[in-house]
Amino acid sequence: KLHNTILELKGNIRVFCRVRPLLPDESCSTEGKIFSYPTSMEASGRAIDLAQNGQKHSFTFDKVFAPESSQEEVFVEISQLVQSALDGYKVCIFAYGQTGSGKTYTMMGRPGHPEEKGLIPRSLEQIFQTKQSQQPQGWKYEMQVSMLEIYNETIRDLLSTTRQESGTPGKQYTIKHDASGNTHVSDLTVVDVQSAREVAFLLNQAANSRSVGKTQMNEQSSRSHFVFTLRIYGVNESTEQQVQGVLNLIDLAGSERLSKSGSTGDRLKETQAINKSLSSLSDVIFALAKKEDHVPFRNSKLTFLLQPCLGGDSKTLMFVNISPEPSSLGESLCSLRFASRVN
Ligand code: ADP
Ligand code: MG
Repeated sequence: KLHNTILELKGNIRVFCRVRPLLPDESCSTEGKIFSYPTSMEASGRAIDLAQNGQKHSFTFDKVFAPESSQEEVFVEISQLVQSALDGYKVCIFAYGQTGSGKTYTMMGRPGHPEEKGLIPRSLEQIFQTKQSQQPQGWKYEMQVSMLEIYNETIRDLLSTTRQESGTPGKQYTIKHDASGNTHVSDLTVVDVQSAREVAFLLNQAANSRSVGKTQMNEQSSRSHFVFTLRIYGVNESTEQQVQGVLNLIDLAGSERLSKSGSTGDRLKETQAINKSLSSLSDVIFALAKKEDHVPFRNSKLTFLLQPCLGGDSKTLMFVNISPEPSSLGESLCSLRFASRVN
């Protein structure tokens, strides 16, 4: 059995910062370099500095990934955490940041570029490989997948085969936690899975059923939280040992502030819902890190849904994704402040 001694020694909440590279159509302005970060992946790469109006802001995280860090290099740093879900831990990995900062790239990768696949497909490949390799020791695992999005504080089932007509009132999915820390969402589709390929197929299905409205698909999906959940039930047939782990991988809604995203009608409602849930998430993680008696899980759907996977001996990792564009400086600073509060 594998153990996460490093994670256990250092507590249960980690924050990694990842700066994406400039994209081909973005040019570096005359303002020059706005960040300083390690140019190669060193273990000591923990600092990020950002200069705004001649003032330097310095942040430290558990790890800082420079723009040239590959998906593989990022995955190496989280593979133990993923592994711990097979050992019976409840794990949450979040991607936080403004729209365009690289959250979906980090989680899913770049469509059509398998070598740039993100941590969701990599995690699944590792989990199913380990499942296979532990068979000789008597371990048998059952795995179940569900995928949902939270849009305007409302849950939508992304694996439901009955497609919701647009305009009809949605199903009211209710969240219940039982005494043993298992979460049940009423009517939510849960699929038994045997292989990483099956999950890849379901991920595809989920992507197709994410909120599509009048505006572009990408824009819509950046307004909702995407929650991927893998439940793992393991039993050792020779020792009769049992484990139950959960791996939650969450691509959060864009964290950009109100002024930028427009402030009327539906967009205002969306933005308020996003702000509310992101600040609740920050409040919850902060309260947990500080070991406060009261943790305000119930203030948003997202934190209530994930409650059993955030407290106790569960493990949480937050990626704060940062865009290197000078025009994103203000948002980047906000993201780093948010993340250093949870750090
Ligand atoms: P978000 O999900 O935060 O809105 P995306 O993940 O969609 O942002 O990233 C925006 C764009 O930047 C996409 O075209 C994506 O492929 C690209 N991108 C993001 N991070 C990286 C990276 N580390 N390396 C290369 N391209 C990236
Ligand atoms: Mg995205």
